[in-house]
Amino acid sequence: MANYKTGASPFQDYLTEIHAELRGMTGGAVADYIPELAKAAPESFAISFSTIDGQVYSVGDSGSAFSIQSVSKPFAYGGALMRLGEAALLRAVGVEPTGEAFNSIVLDERNNRPFNPMVNAGAIAVAALQDGATPAARIAAMQALFSDFAGRALGIDEAVYRSEAETGHRNRAIAYLMLNSGMIARDPEEVLDLYFRQCALLVTTEDLAVMGATLANNGVNPRTGKRVLGSAEVRDVLTLMMSCGMYDYAGEWSYDVGLPAKSGVSGAVLAVLPGQLSIAIWSPPLDPIGNSVRGVAACSRISRDFGLHLFMNAATVEDVIRRETRASRQPSLRIRNPRERDLLAQEGEKIALVELQGALYFASAERMIRRLGRLIAEVRYLVLDFRRLNSIDGAALRFFDDFLTRSRAAGVEIAFAEIGGGTADTAGLISGLARDRGVRVFGAVDTALETYEDMVLDLAREPYDHTNFALDTIRLFQGLEPAQLRRIEQLIQPMQFEAGAHILRTGEDGRMFFVLARGSVSVMVETGQDERLRVGCIGPGQFFGEMAVLEGGPRSADVIADERVVCYGLTVAHLDDLAAEDPHILSTIFANMAREFASRIRAGNRVISQLQ
Ligand code: GLN
Repeated sequence: MANYKTGASPFQDYLTEIHAELRGMTGGAVADYIPELAKAAPESFAISFSTIDGQVYSVGDSGSAFSIQSVSKPFAYGGALMRLGEAALLRAVGVEPTGEAFNSIVLDERNNRPFNPMVNAGAIAVAALQDGATPAARIAAMQALFSDFAGRALGIDEAVYRSEAETGHRNRAIAYLMLNSGMIARDPEEVLDLYFRQCALLVTTEDLAVMGATLANNGVNPRTGKRVLGSAEVRDVLTLMMSCGMYDYAGEWSYDVGLPAKSGVSGAVLAVLPGQLSIAIWSPPLDPIGNSVRGVAACSRISRDFGLHLFMNAATVEDVIRRETRASRQPSLRIRNPRERDLLAQEGEKIALVELQGALYFASAERMIRRLGRLIAEVRYLVLDFRRLNSIDGAALRFFDDFLTRSRAAGVEIAFAEIGGGTADTAGLISGLARDRGVRVFGAVDTALETYEDMVLDLAREPYDHTNFALDTIRLFQGLEPAQLRRIEQLIQPMQFEAGAHILRTGEDGRMFFVLARGSVSVMVETGQDERLRVGCIGPGQFFGEMAVLEGGPRSADVIADERVVCYGLTVAHLDDLAAEDPHILSTIFANMAREFASRIRAGNRVISQLQ
């Protein structure tokens, strides 16, 4: 590979280098069968390169416009496919390489159609299918299609158009021959007029690069975001570019460069690497086959330097399972009482959490489904975290669908969480799947875990009567004598909050701590402007708000009621009173608190170690 000079972008430097190197190449001749084309300067030379997100790198005469010529053929074919569909197009033109020159007068007599749309005969047959009520409307529709591909309004080089219209007798012969055998139905002169105008569309290599990037980007113009072709049409177009795009050089081109491509007699070559990039080159001198000499050399160099050949696939299948764990090892953030914690340490084994990442396609999905298939033999609940999944294709969706059916039959409940990770398309496909299969969808993984933990614990059936709230069932007060408990009962203040109410606010003075009698509350911390993260969830029998009381500072988090809650408050003054009356009460409470803190820290450490 060429050595990079330092600069704004190593790739830009690379292009500059190969441009300088290949500029010195001689050989080839500027096409002169169209008189106007013969005027092209042989030294003109431009390379543009576009990524599928529309980043274009250019070098040389990339601002100069030239007529698109045969590079228009795949795009016209794609447009016709969109309008008429594959079956109708196949009746009009075949998909077989000819092994003959682009302007050869050979037709597939057996099927009564031209061999393929990349040679003149086929492209003229495609032009005969342009829709529109009048010739002018058909020209306008053709021009609009190409402008959509380029992402800007493209004009026609009138001189080139007239020059070819006056001298294009060979194409005229082809059109009349096709009229004679019923391969086209329209007036050949009008069809040729449209075809010559299409070939005379003025483009730069930057335009061609964007047009190619639209193909690489599955039919969506990366500059405008407009969908010009569907993915099936893109597939058909690229296939024909691969087999027929470089005329009778197609075999050698596939072997050497390995990219679908199209050339034109103006000296343009456009190559596409699906899903990645496009390369557009313009250099008028042609080899005897009609391909740009520097264009072929540059594509060959770039493909080899960067390993772009389509069959240069190293065998890699992404592992889309980033992490697999269980609620026993990574419980939800909900703070549980010791009995619940003990239960979950065991029963949490039945709840699996699997984080997905990357791209799901045939091979990666097949591997994932195999692993998940083994997992559902061991668990009752499976939470799939989609946060890091970027894409999913049709094959993967089929595997997934089948997996959901099988896991249901196995009695395993599947939940999807954080669906919005990848593109909007991906999120749409996954929520569609969830809808079709009745899969439960959660916004956050934590809520999913908490829900299944609750199911495992069967909390719903735990009876609760807050009118008769027994302080001795609260861990914090364990070890106190009945008389001491009665003393506390006199001090505490029962309070009720409705769902969504702020019980504590960050920054407020903390004079009171709370014991939750009923319902659950969320602990939220601010992570940025207007951004809050739920860091914990507290249920009945637990306490909160103790930090500020112990430290005597402001509140470090917000606590919000998840539902209607009842809690009991104890103020600093109450604690002081208790300390004065009976130091044993306070020391028992503090010892219980310390025990609770220790187990919270242990739980936290377990979570942290899981995250390594
Ligand atoms: N307009 C040209 C022709 O029909 C297009 C041929 C080409 O670019 N190969 O001859």
